[in-house]
Amino acid sequence: MSTLRFHAVKASLKRKPLKIKDVKRRSEIFGANVFNEPSMRQYLTSTALNSVLEAIDKGTKINRLVADHVSTGMKEWAISKGATHYTHWFQPLTGATAEKHDAFFETIGDGLAIEKFGGDQLVQQEPDASSFPNGGIRNTFEARGYTAWDPTSPAFIYDKTLCIPTVFVSYTGEALDFKTPLLRALQVVDNAAVAVCKYFDKNVKKVNASLGWEQEYFLIDSALAASRPDILITGRTVLGHSPAKGQQLDDHYFGTIPARAMAYMRDLEHQCMLLGIPVKTRHNEVAPNQFELAPIYEEANLAVDHNSLLMDVMQKIAKRHNFTVLMHEKPFAGVNGSGKHNNWSLSTNTGVNLLSPGKTPMSNLQFLTFFINTIKAVETHEELLRAAIASASNDHRLGANEAPPAIISIFIGEQLTKVLKELETVTKGKLSPKEKTDLKLNVVGKIPEVILDNTDRNRTSPFAFTGNKFEFRAVGSTANCANPMTVLNTIVAKQLMDFKVEVDELIDEKAMKKDDAIFNVLREYIKTSKAILFEGNGYSADWEKEAKKRGLSNNKTTPEALKIKKAKSTIELYNSLGIMNKIETEARYEIEMEDYSHHIQIESRVIGDIARNHVVPTAVKYQNVLIENVTGLKTIYGDRFKDFAKAQLTLIEQISEHIEAINSSVTKMIEARKVCNQQTDLEKRASGYCKEVKPFFEEIRYHCDKLELMVDDELWPLTKYRELLFTK
Ligand code: ADP
Ligand code: MG
Repeated sequence: MSTLRFHAVKASLKRKPLKIKDVKRRSEIFGANVFNEPSMRQYLTSTALNSVLEAIDKGTKINRLVADHVSTGMKEWAISKGATHYTHWFQPLTGATAEKHDAFFETIGDGLAIEKFGGDQLVQQEPDASSFPNGGIRNTFEARGYTAWDPTSPAFIYDKTLCIPTVFVSYTGEALDFKTPLLRALQVVDNAAVAVCKYFDKNVKKVNASLGWEQEYFLIDSALAASRPDILITGRTVLGHSPAKGQQLDDHYFGTIPARAMAYMRDLEHQCMLLGIPVKTRHNEVAPNQFELAPIYEEANLAVDHNSLLMDVMQKIAKRHNFTVLMHEKPFAGVNGSGKHNNWSLSTNTGVNLLSPGKTPMSNLQFLTFFINTIKAVETHEELLRAAIASASNDHRLGANEAPPAIISIFIGEQLTKVLKELETVTKGKLSPKEKTDLKLNVVGKIPEVILDNTDRNRTSPFAFTGNKFEFRAVGSTANCANPMTVLNTIVAKQLMDFKVEVDELIDEKAMKKDDAIFNVLREYIKTSKAILFEGNGYSADWEKEAKKRGLSNNKTTPEALKIKKAKSTIELYNSLGIMNKIETEARYEIEMEDYSHHIQIESRVIGDIARNHVVPTAVKYQNVLIENVTGLKTIYGDRFKDFAKAQLTLIEQISEHIEAINSSVTKMIEARKVCNQQTDLEKRASGYCKEVKPFFEEIRYHCDKLELMVDDELWPLTKYRELLFTK
């Protein structure tokens, strides 16, 4: 065993779980480090408090004078909690969160100093933004960007620093982050949904989109992770032979959580409680060393912030436990990868979940309206939804027989399929009183409050209705949820707006009753959105064929999937709803295309390096041992040596063949990379990386993995899968 590998395994075997002290009741510490309503009541004047609450509720602006009051209260609260610094906390398009800390401390002359934090510092900052991805926006316009306070997501203290959630925009107002378009989309869906709700209940004033994410991840001992250059640099293993035992015994899923992992989770959950992240569920996932964590769902903007914060906190807490968290969608070949299900629903200020069937025919008609409009929205914009989850790392997972395919479809279950079938037969035009009573009593009225399809929840579906919410399952584990949430809320908003226009037209022009009009429009939607509904096995080859016939997109790679993002229809959609203007939409497209090329470029370099500098030299070393052995046998046995050296001679030859194959593939891969790098067209470069460079990964890996099986285990430099995955 190489020294590095030996010490890594030895260190990991010695580790004991950290002793974690739990509080008796977690509810008592929940939100202790968050500037939430109770803390605000204590530290803010009533004018300041009301102003913030109104901003949260109605999106109103907070004036500068009030901001000064808020900042003073916030500072006092933060200092009382031991904070020394503050930062604007934001989510640039790198995918990570960004922060730049400043101390409250200020000198005031004469050797004196105070703690200061004014309204100006709270409301706006200008981080040096030129190093964040901007897709050319700031080159075209101003070279500056600024962060601005988002009062709808509360400030919190982490590591003695007051973190203020902010949006990040260019000086000319273009969004440079994930949050800005999300906030716009949430506003638009709020307005559109409230307008539709008025058909059913005039008291509805606000509709919130909710998000409950489920985060999957791997925990690997940090010494083992550090012994693999591929994990350190790319977050995944680029080679490694499958262990004798993988996940085929299904003994990890929902199994007993290993003691070290449990100590980590408890520590993490404690931190989450302090930060107000309402984590609730933890369990083992399918693959060895794979786990899941899920919170109670929250308003979507807050949930997105909490997920981003969580991903950061997970890594920090892991260090204390000598773990490295692998968030990558496919860290190990041959065992399951990780996703992040996004559970989504809409709820009103009157406490109604619009995606939950109710007790009366009227509330069920409301449910059906939102249910069918969501289906219609996904049907119309399936390709855009696919693009929202596209990334180099998620490409490994989609369609890999463990995650949904790259085809977007919706599973609704048997009961609702039946309801839609019956609604489809509703007569066109005005309904007779008998028909309407029949429909209300026997179809709409019969939808049970609890949908019983939970038993046959189709795990192969990328977008499934699960009783009172839709679950978008194709989101990648590293993704910022803002992206899929922006798209989903935008397309549903657009659909609800179209629906309202159509219904109103029937009411105004055809003098239809409201119910008749709604039934008529919904019936047409059911007819026209059938292609997206699929109850079968999404992993099967038949589905690919069938989906093609139905005209559904099947964009298997990121460069293909992203193209829709700069289509005219997309630009028009975002622009008309005020989510993003043309420049913003195109900039994002560029950033993502570029990001894809960079990812593949880095992985390609890592693979080339490991294959040439780790694997090949080790194989040569072992081949020399064999040659020495054969030479020795020849000395002893003369011409008869072959009788005793058969296996060795075969191995010597095979090793040479694998070395040759690796070497020539790496050379060709480097050549292909050079061609791509000279390509100035972003799209062509990404496509080149995808089609010309990436195919070598598998080829090189195949030969390296074969060598792993041949070469003396003592010589093998890279920590093996069995050690990475089974060392607890
Ligand atoms: P699973 O899909 O693993 O069976 P659950 O049914 O427990 O999981 O729910 C998973 C996630 O769905 C949780 O994060 C939960 O908060 C969220 N969730 C539950 N109800 C809703 C809802 N109405 N809207 C949005 N998310 C929800
Ligand atoms: Mg789920």
